[in-house]
Amino acid sequence: MEIIGFQKWFDCLSGYSHLIIAGPCSVETEEQLLNTARQISDIEQIKVLRAGVWKPRTSPNSFEGVGEIGLDWLQKAKQETGLLTCVEVATPKHVELCLQKGVDVLWLGARTVANPFSVQDICEVLKGVNVPIMIKNPINPDLKLWVGAIERMLKVGVNKIAAIHRGFYPFEDTRFRNIPKWEIPIELKTIFPNISIINDPSHIAGKRELVKEVAEQALCLNVDGLMIETHINPKLALSDAAQQLTPAELDDLLKKLTFRKADFDDKNMLNELENLRFQIDSLDFQMLELLAKRMEIIKKIGDFKNNNNISIFQLERWNEIKKNRIKAGVELNLDEKIIKKILQIIHSYSIIKQTK
Ligand code: PEP
Ligand code: MN
Repeated sequence: MEIIGFQKWFDCLSGYSHLIIAGPCSVETEEQLLNTARQISDIEQIKVLRAGVWKPRTSPNSFEGVGEIGLDWLQKAKQETGLLTCVEVATPKHVELCLQKGVDVLWLGARTVANPFSVQDICEVLKGVNVPIMIKNPINPDLKLWVGAIERMLKVGVNKIAAIHRGFYPFEDTRFRNIPKWEIPIELKTIFPNISIINDPSHIAGKRELVKEVAEQALCLNVDGLMIETHINPKLALSDAAQQLTPAELDDLLKKLTFRKADFDDKNMLNELENLRFQIDSLDFQMLELLAKRMEIIKKIGDFKNNNNISIFQLERWNEIKKNRIKAGVELNLDEKIIKKILQIIHSYSIIKQTK
Protein backbone atom coordinates (compact mmCIF):
# COMPACT_ATOMS: atom_id res chain seq x y z
CA MET A 1 0.00 0.00 0.00
CA GLU A 2 1.34 3.42 -1.03
CA ILE A 3 1.66 6.23 1.50
CA ILE A 4 -0.16 9.39 0.41
CA GLY A 5 1.67 12.69 0.96
CA PHE A 6 -0.05 15.55 2.82
CA GLN A 7 -0.93 17.50 -0.35
CA LYS A 8 -3.51 14.85 -1.19
CA TRP A 9 -5.15 14.68 2.23
CA PHE A 10 -7.49 17.64 1.68
CA ASP A 11 -8.19 19.87 -1.30
CA CYS A 12 -7.09 22.94 0.64
CA LEU A 13 -3.58 21.46 1.05
CA SER A 14 -2.95 20.77 -2.61
CA GLY A 15 -0.47 23.10 -4.23
CA TYR A 16 1.45 23.74 -0.98
CA SER A 17 5.12 22.80 -0.88
CA HIS A 18 5.16 22.69 2.94
CA LEU A 19 2.58 21.79 5.58
CA ILE A 20 2.72 24.30 8.39
CA ILE A 21 0.87 23.32 11.56
CA ALA A 22 0.59 25.65 14.54
CA GLY A 23 -1.31 25.82 17.79
CA PRO A 24 -0.90 25.48 21.53
CA CYS A 25 0.78 22.55 23.22
CA SER A 26 -2.47 22.09 25.17
CA VAL A 27 -6.02 23.36 24.98
CA GLU A 28 -6.46 25.20 28.28
CA THR A 29 -9.64 27.26 28.00
CA GLU A 30 -12.13 28.02 25.24
CA GLU A 31 -10.92 31.60 25.15
CA GLN A 32 -7.23 30.69 24.97
CA LEU A 33 -7.87 28.29 22.08
CA LEU A 34 -10.16 30.59 20.10
CA ASN A 35 -7.91 33.62 20.48
CA THR A 36 -4.86 31.61 19.44
CA ALA A 37 -6.70 30.07 16.46
CA ARG A 38 -8.01 33.45 15.27
CA GLN A 39 -4.55 34.97 15.14
CA ILE A 40 -2.98 31.89 13.59
CA SER A 41 -5.61 31.81 10.85
CA ASP A 42 -4.47 35.26 9.74
CA ILE A 43 -1.16 33.73 8.64
CA GLU A 44 -1.64 32.59 5.06
CA GLN A 45 0.63 29.53 5.10
CA ILE A 46 -1.09 27.91 8.06
CA LYS A 47 -3.89 25.50 7.30
CA VAL A 48 -3.86 23.23 10.34
CA LEU A 49 -4.41 23.99 14.02
CA ARG A 50 -2.74 21.64 16.50
CA ALA A 51 -3.73 21.25 20.16
CA GLY A 52 -3.41 18.54 22.78
CA VAL A 53 -6.47 17.75 24.88
CA TRP A 54 -5.02 14.66 26.59
CA LYS A 55 -1.45 15.32 27.64
CA PRO A 56 0.98 12.49 28.34
CA ARG A 57 2.93 13.92 31.28
CA THR A 58 5.81 12.43 33.20
CA SER A 59 4.27 13.36 36.55
CA PRO A 60 0.58 12.91 37.45
CA ASN A 61 0.78 16.26 39.22
CA SER A 62 1.33 18.13 35.96
CA PHE A 63 -1.51 19.52 33.84
CA GLU A 64 -2.91 16.50 31.98
CA GLY A 65 -5.20 18.30 29.55
CA VAL A 66 -8.85 19.40 29.63
CA GLY A 67 -10.08 16.18 27.96
CA GLU A 68 -13.16 15.77 25.79
CA ILE A 69 -14.54 19.31 26.23
CA GLY A 70 -11.44 20.57 24.39
CA LEU A 71 -12.73 18.81 21.25
CA ASP A 72 -15.89 20.97 21.34
CA TRP A 73 -13.76 24.11 21.52
CA LEU A 74 -11.64 22.84 18.63
CA GLN A 75 -14.81 22.34 16.61
CA LYS A 76 -15.77 25.95 17.32
CA ALA A 77 -12.30 27.15 16.32
CA LYS A 78 -12.57 25.22 13.07
CA GLN A 79 -16.02 26.62 12.26
CA GLU A 80 -14.90 30.15 12.94
CA THR A 81 -11.47 30.15 11.28
CA GLY A 82 -11.70 27.40 8.65
CA LEU A 83 -8.50 25.81 9.95
CA LEU A 84 -8.28 22.03 9.87
CA THR A 85 -7.71 20.56 13.33
CA CYS A 86 -5.30 17.95 14.66
CA VAL A 87 -5.13 16.30 18.07
CA GLU A 88 -2.88 13.75 19.80
CA VAL A 89 -4.50 10.37 20.46
CA ALA A 90 -3.09 7.75 22.79
CA THR A 91 -5.97 5.28 23.22
CA PRO A 92 -8.77 3.81 21.05
CA LYS A 93 -11.26 5.89 23.09
CA HIS A 94 -9.40 9.10 22.13
CA VAL A 95 -9.65 8.10 18.46
CA GLU A 96 -13.39 7.46 18.70
CA LEU A 97 -14.04 10.79 20.41
CA CYS A 98 -11.91 12.72 17.91
CA LEU A 99 -13.71 11.12 14.98
CA GLN A 100 -17.10 11.88 16.54
CA LYS A 101 -16.12 15.51 17.06
CA GLY A 102 -14.82 15.99 13.52
CA VAL A 103 -11.08 16.28 14.18
CA ASP A 104 -9.41 16.25 10.74
CA VAL A 105 -5.98 14.80 11.47
CA LEU A 106 -4.78 12.64 14.38
CA TRP A 107 -1.28 12.27 15.70
CA LEU A 108 0.47 9.69 17.85
CA GLY A 109 2.82 11.11 20.48
CA ALA A 110 6.40 10.01 21.09
CA ARG A 111 5.52 8.04 24.23
CA THR A 112 2.74 6.14 22.47
CA VAL A 113 4.88 5.25 19.46
CA ALA A 114 7.41 3.71 21.86
CA ASN A 115 4.78 1.09 22.80
CA PRO A 116 3.75 -1.29 19.97
CA PHE A 117 0.74 -2.58 21.99
CA SER A 118 -0.70 0.94 22.19
CA VAL A 119 -0.01 1.56 18.51
CA GLN A 120 -1.73 -1.71 17.58
CA ASP A 121 -4.79 -0.92 19.77
CA ILE A 122 -5.14 2.41 17.97
CA CYS A 123 -4.71 0.74 14.57
CA GLU A 124 -7.59 -1.62 15.34
CA VAL A 125 -10.08 1.26 15.66
CA LEU A 126 -8.67 2.95 12.56
CA LYS A 127 -9.54 0.02 10.28
CA GLY A 128 -11.67 1.31 7.44
CA VAL A 129 -11.36 4.94 8.60
CA ASN A 130 -9.88 7.33 6.10
CA VAL A 131 -8.39 9.85 8.54
CA PRO A 132 -4.84 11.19 8.05
CA ILE A 133 -2.47 10.28 10.83
CA MET A 134 0.87 11.74 11.86
CA ILE A 135 3.31 9.56 13.73
CA LYS A 136 5.91 11.15 15.97
CA ASN A 137 9.27 9.49 16.38
CA PRO A 138 9.51 7.37 19.56
CA ILE A 139 11.32 9.04 22.49
CA ASN A 140 14.31 6.73 22.06
CA PRO A 141 16.34 6.87 18.82
CA ASP A 142 14.97 3.58 17.52
CA LEU A 143 14.27 3.87 13.80
CA LYS A 144 12.76 0.37 13.67
CA LEU A 145 10.12 1.27 16.22
CA TRP A 146 9.13 4.31 14.16
CA VAL A 147 9.04 2.20 10.98
CA GLY A 148 7.02 -0.47 12.82
CA ALA A 149 4.31 2.02 13.84
CA ILE A 150 4.00 3.15 10.22
CA GLU A 151 3.83 -0.44 9.01
CA ARG A 152 1.08 -1.21 11.53
CA MET A 153 -0.95 1.69 10.11
CA LEU A 154 -0.42 0.52 6.54
CA LYS A 155 -1.51 -3.01 7.51
CA VAL A 156 -4.93 -1.77 8.64
CA GLY A 157 -5.34 0.29 5.47
CA VAL A 158 -4.43 3.74 6.82
CA ASN A 159 -2.19 5.36 4.20
CA LYS A 160 -2.52 9.10 4.68
CA ILE A 161 0.53 9.11 6.89
CA ALA A 162 3.10 11.74 7.84
CA ALA A 163 6.01 11.36 10.23
CA ILE A 164 6.75 14.03 12.83
CA HIS A 165 10.38 14.42 13.82
CA ARG A 166 10.44 15.75 17.41
CA GLY A 167 13.92 14.61 18.40
CA PHE A 168 15.09 12.08 20.99
CA TYR A 169 15.45 12.00 24.74
CA PRO A 170 18.97 13.18 25.55
CA PHE A 171 19.59 11.49 28.97
CA GLU A 172 21.70 14.46 30.01
CA ASP A 173 21.30 18.24 29.71
CA THR A 174 22.02 19.48 26.20
CA ARG A 175 21.55 22.84 24.52
CA PHE A 176 18.34 21.56 22.95
CA ARG A 177 15.62 19.79 24.91
CA ASN A 178 15.79 16.81 22.53
CA ILE A 179 18.67 15.59 20.36
CA PRO A 180 17.63 15.96 16.70
CA LYS A 181 19.64 13.04 15.23
CA TRP A 182 18.78 14.26 11.74
CA GLU A 183 20.07 11.05 10.19
CA ILE A 184 17.06 9.13 11.58
CA PRO A 185 14.26 11.03 9.75
CA ILE A 186 16.46 11.04 6.63
CA GLU A 187 16.74 7.25 6.86
CA LEU A 188 12.96 7.03 7.37
CA LYS A 189 12.44 8.94 4.14
CA THR A 190 14.64 6.49 2.27
CA ILE A 191 12.47 3.65 3.60
CA PHE A 192 9.16 5.42 2.81
CA PRO A 193 9.95 7.86 -0.04
CA ASN A 194 6.36 9.16 -0.21
CA ILE A 195 6.02 9.97 3.48
CA SER A 196 5.77 13.64 4.45
CA ILE A 197 8.31 14.48 7.14
CA ILE A 198 7.09 17.23 9.45
CA ASN A 199 9.69 18.73 11.75
CA ASP A 200 8.66 19.81 15.26
CA PRO A 201 11.29 22.43 16.13
CA SER A 202 9.41 23.37 19.32
CA HIS A 203 9.98 20.06 21.10
CA ILE A 204 13.51 19.69 19.73
CA ALA A 205 14.52 23.21 20.81
CA GLY A 206 12.66 23.33 24.13
CA LYS A 207 13.27 27.09 24.26
CA ARG A 208 11.53 29.65 22.07
CA GLU A 209 14.84 31.40 21.26
CA LEU A 210 16.14 28.23 19.60
CA VAL A 211 13.05 27.32 17.54
CA LYS A 212 14.23 29.30 14.50
CA GLU A 213 17.64 27.63 14.44
CA VAL A 214 16.06 24.16 14.42
CA ALA A 215 13.43 25.09 11.82
CA GLU A 216 16.17 26.45 9.55
CA GLN A 217 18.17 23.24 9.82
CA ALA A 218 15.06 21.20 9.10
CA LEU A 219 14.28 23.20 5.96
CA CYS A 220 17.89 22.80 4.79
CA LEU A 221 17.33 19.07 4.99
CA ASN A 222 14.22 19.37 2.88
CA VAL A 223 11.48 18.49 5.34
CA ASP A 224 7.90 18.68 4.08
CA GLY A 225 6.54 20.76 6.91
CA LEU A 226 6.81 22.23 10.37
CA MET A 227 4.69 21.87 13.50
CA ILE A 228 5.24 24.85 15.77
CA GLU A 229 3.72 25.29 19.22
CA THR A 230 1.97 28.65 19.40
CA HIS A 231 0.09 30.13 22.33
CA ILE A 232 -1.72 33.43 22.80
CA ASN A 233 0.23 33.98 26.00
CA PRO A 234 3.13 31.50 26.12
CA LYS A 235 4.48 32.59 29.49
CA LEU A 236 1.22 31.53 31.14
CA ALA A 237 0.95 28.23 29.26
CA LEU A 238 0.09 25.22 31.42
CA SER A 239 2.48 22.97 29.48
CA ASP A 240 5.68 23.65 27.53
CA ALA A 241 5.65 27.36 28.43
CA ALA A 242 9.33 27.86 27.59
CA GLN A 243 9.09 26.77 23.96
CA GLN A 244 5.83 28.25 22.67
CA LEU A 245 5.73 31.32 20.40
CA THR A 246 3.04 33.98 20.19
CA PRO A 247 1.16 34.08 16.86
CA ALA A 248 3.03 37.32 16.03
CA GLU A 249 6.40 35.65 16.71
CA LEU A 250 5.33 32.73 14.54
CA ASP A 251 4.38 35.07 11.70
CA ASP A 252 7.75 36.76 11.98
CA LEU A 253 9.58 33.43 12.03
CA LEU A 254 7.78 32.14 8.93
CA LYS A 255 8.69 35.31 7.07
CA LYS A 256 12.36 34.82 7.92
CA LEU A 257 12.57 31.16 6.95
CA THR A 258 13.55 30.06 3.46
CA PHE A 259 11.23 27.41 2.12
CA ARG A 260 13.43 25.53 -0.33
CA LYS A 261 12.42 23.41 -3.25
CA ALA A 262 13.56 19.79 -3.49
CA ASP A 263 14.34 19.99 -7.19
CA PHE A 264 14.96 22.82 -9.50
CA ASP A 265 14.28 23.59 -13.05
CA ASP A 266 17.13 26.03 -13.65
CA LYS A 267 19.75 24.31 -15.87
CA ASN A 268 22.74 26.36 -14.66
CA MET A 269 21.99 25.66 -11.01
CA LEU A 270 21.61 21.98 -11.81
CA ASN A 271 24.99 21.88 -13.58
CA GLU A 272 26.71 23.56 -10.68
CA LEU A 273 25.16 21.12 -8.22
CA GLU A 274 26.12 18.15 -10.38
CA ASN A 275 29.67 19.39 -10.55
CA LEU A 276 29.89 19.69 -6.75
CA ARG A 277 28.31 16.25 -6.30
CA PHE A 278 30.83 14.79 -8.73
CA GLN A 279 33.66 16.12 -6.55
CA ILE A 280 32.03 14.66 -3.42
CA ASP A 281 31.68 11.26 -5.11
CA SER A 282 35.32 11.30 -6.07
CA LEU A 283 36.46 12.27 -2.56
CA ASP A 284 34.26 9.58 -0.99
CA PHE A 285 35.90 6.89 -3.10
CA GLN A 286 39.34 8.22 -2.21
CA MET A 287 38.42 8.07 1.48
CA LEU A 288 37.32 4.44 1.08
CA GLU A 289 40.55 3.53 -0.70
CA LEU A 290 42.58 5.19 2.06
CA LEU A 291 40.57 3.36 4.69
CA ALA A 292 41.17 0.04 2.93
CA LYS A 293 44.93 0.78 2.79
CA ARG A 294 44.89 1.70 6.45
CA MET A 295 43.18 -1.60 7.27
CA GLU A 296 45.82 -3.57 5.35
CA ILE A 297 48.53 -2.00 7.46
CA ILE A 298 46.45 -2.55 10.59
CA LYS A 299 46.41 -6.24 9.70
CA LYS A 300 50.22 -6.28 9.38
CA ILE A 301 50.56 -4.61 12.76
CA GLY A 302 48.13 -7.18 14.18
CA ASP A 303 50.26 -10.03 12.84
CA PHE A 304 53.40 -8.38 14.20
CA LYS A 305 51.88 -7.97 17.67
CA ASN A 306 50.67 -11.53 17.59
CA ASN A 307 54.04 -12.97 16.58
CA ASN A 308 55.83 -10.97 19.25
CA ASN A 309 53.24 -11.43 21.97
CA ILE A 310 52.41 -7.73 22.36
CA SER A 311 48.93 -6.68 23.48
CA ILE A 312 46.72 -5.23 20.77
CA PHE A 313 45.46 -2.17 22.59
CA GLN A 314 48.06 0.30 23.77
CA LEU A 315 46.62 3.18 25.70
CA GLU A 316 49.55 5.54 25.25
CA ARG A 317 49.62 5.14 21.48
CA TRP A 318 45.83 5.63 21.27
CA ASN A 319 45.97 8.80 23.38
CA GLU A 320 48.75 10.11 21.20
CA ILE A 321 46.78 9.37 18.00
CA LYS A 322 43.69 11.07 19.36
CA LYS A 323 45.58 14.14 20.47
CA ASN A 324 47.51 14.90 17.32
CA ARG A 325 44.74 13.89 14.87
CA ILE A 326 42.20 16.08 16.63
CA LYS A 327 44.68 18.96 16.64
CA ALA A 328 45.31 18.51 12.91
CA GLY A 329 41.57 18.24 12.23
CA VAL A 330 40.82 21.42 14.12
CA GLU A 331 43.55 23.21 12.14
CA LEU A 332 41.74 22.08 9.00
CA ASN A 333 38.55 23.69 10.33
CA LEU A 334 36.88 20.38 11.16
CA ASP A 335 34.60 19.98 14.15
CA GLU A 336 36.46 18.59 17.17
CA LYS A 337 33.62 16.41 18.45
CA ILE A 338 32.89 14.89 15.06
CA ILE A 339 36.59 14.13 14.43
CA LYS A 340 36.73 12.41 17.81
CA LYS A 341 33.75 10.23 16.85
CA ILE A 342 35.22 9.34 13.46
CA LEU A 343 38.54 8.40 15.07
CA GLN A 344 36.75 6.25 17.61
CA ILE A 345 34.90 4.39 14.88
CA ILE A 346 38.09 3.83 12.85
CA HIS A 347 39.93 2.72 15.98
CA SER A 348 37.27 0.22 16.98
CA TYR A 349 37.24 -1.15 13.42
CA SER A 350 41.04 -1.57 13.67
CA ILE A 351 40.77 -3.38 16.99
CA ILE A 352 38.18 -5.76 15.57
CA LYS A 353 40.46 -6.44 12.59
CA GLN A 354 43.49 -7.10 14.83
CA THR A 355 41.66 -9.34 17.30
CA LYS A 356 40.47 -11.47 14.38
C1 PEP B 1 3.13 17.58 22.11
O1 PEP B 1 3.12 17.61 20.89
O2 PEP B 1 2.74 18.49 22.83
C2 PEP B 1 3.75 16.40 22.76
C3 PEP B 1 3.34 15.91 23.91
O3 PEP B 1 4.79 15.95 22.05
P1 PEP B 1 5.73 14.64 22.14
O4 PEP B 1 4.83 13.46 21.96
O5 PEP B 1 6.61 14.88 20.96
O6 PEP B 1 6.45 14.68 23.44
MN1 MN C 1 4.13 20.24 23.89
